[in-house]
Amino acid sequence: MAKDYYDILDVNEDASEDEIKKAYRKKAKKYHPDMNPDLDKEEAEERFKEVTEAYEVLSDPDKRAQYDRFGHAGPSQGFDFNNQDFERARSAFSDSSFDDIFDLFFGEGRRRGRSQTAAQKGEDLQRKLRISLEDAAKGTQVKFSIPRFVKCDSCNGSGVKPGSSKRTCPHCNGRGEIRQKQQTMLGSFVNVQTCPKCGGSGEIIDDPCTKCRGEGRVKEKTEISVKVPPGVKDGSRLRLKRKGNVGRKGAPAGDLFIMVDIKEHETFIRKGDDILTTVPVHFTQLILGGEVSVPTLDGVEKIKVEPGTQSGEKIKLRKRGIPHLNKPGKGDQIVRLKAITPTDLDPEERNLVEELNERLGSPMGNNSDESESFFEKLKNFREEFRK
Ligand SMILES: [Zn+2]
Ligand SMILES: [Zn+2]
Repeated sequence: MAKDYYDILDVNEDASEDEIKKAYRKKAKKYHPDMNPDLDKEEAEERFKEVTEAYEVLSDPDKRAQYDRFGHAGPSQGFDFNNQDFERARSAFSDSSFDDIFDLFFGEGRRRGRSQTAAQKGEDLQRKLRISLEDAAKGTQVKFSIPRFVKCDSCNGSGVKPGSSKRTCPHCNGRGEIRQKQQTMLGSFVNVQTCPKCGGSGEIIDDPCTKCRGEGRVKEKTEISVKVPPGVKDGSRLRLKRKGNVGRKGAPAGDLFIMVDIKEHETFIRKGDDILTTVPVHFTQLILGGEVSVPTLDGVEKIKVEPGTQSGEKIKLRKRGIPHLNKPGKGDQIVRLKAITPTDLDPEERNLVEELNERLGSPMGNNSDESESFFEKLKNFREEFRK
């Protein structure tokens, strides 16, 4: 008996479309030859086709409803991929890292179907975007211009000289490919090739547009506006759909990928979504406590310091860090107070400190360095070196 599609993908019968997609990705990855070089190829292929079939049915609301009612015995059920189904299964993977496994397991016919559309679509473009930490925290809108192929306005992307027309390629009769049946000892095979006369487009342009030389696209500086979301991380990639190069002869554009590069900040260190700052204070401020000015992402803020605070102590300012990306909440700001030793005292200040020094004595007590309590007291400081 055929295996249950829900079991194959390891999902509940009420799983959402998203859960099914995730489950499919997870399962399919397991059978990717690059990730599992030890896996027997035939076994992997069998499993990969199985999960793809399950996904193919469960990701299509109509097919899923039919399957839920009739199971495998349902009318027109079975592993019969049309191109649309196939593209859907493939598009479950947003990157191209899975193209090879589809090619490997579903054969050249599929790949050819794919390569034609892939060849038509314009190229993806990439650009680096350098932003400040403040902008990364708050999000920003950035405008820039890049040279990219856009649709030729002279021929409206057709590549045909205005006033003339194109004709069906006589070599392939507009199919864009040449099929040849080959008889071999093992039987007959159909050999499929891209038509060399029209390059697969199925059309011949006798009078190409002079502006784009029949390409249907021209390179131009284009103004791009990109929205950077609050909380964006250094090195992350933003995708602007269809903002890459427009394809030849009116084919859709590729995507533009923006690589985010966050400048190092002079005051703040980013750690995840937390912000770390060291703020210098006088030892007298630590003794007496009071207010200390601290830089935050929202400007300078006064924070309260308790009397008797130690140098190096950290104060957490809740939710003053960087917003979490795509979910509510923010990181914290951690402020480390560091006592600085004043070096430019005038005589009067010096007298005051001398007096204080005399009265306080050593934090270790009187210098009976052989007493047990001397070593006892040092124990607490031993760990500080490790930090
Ligand atoms: Zn043109
Ligand atoms: Zn042709």
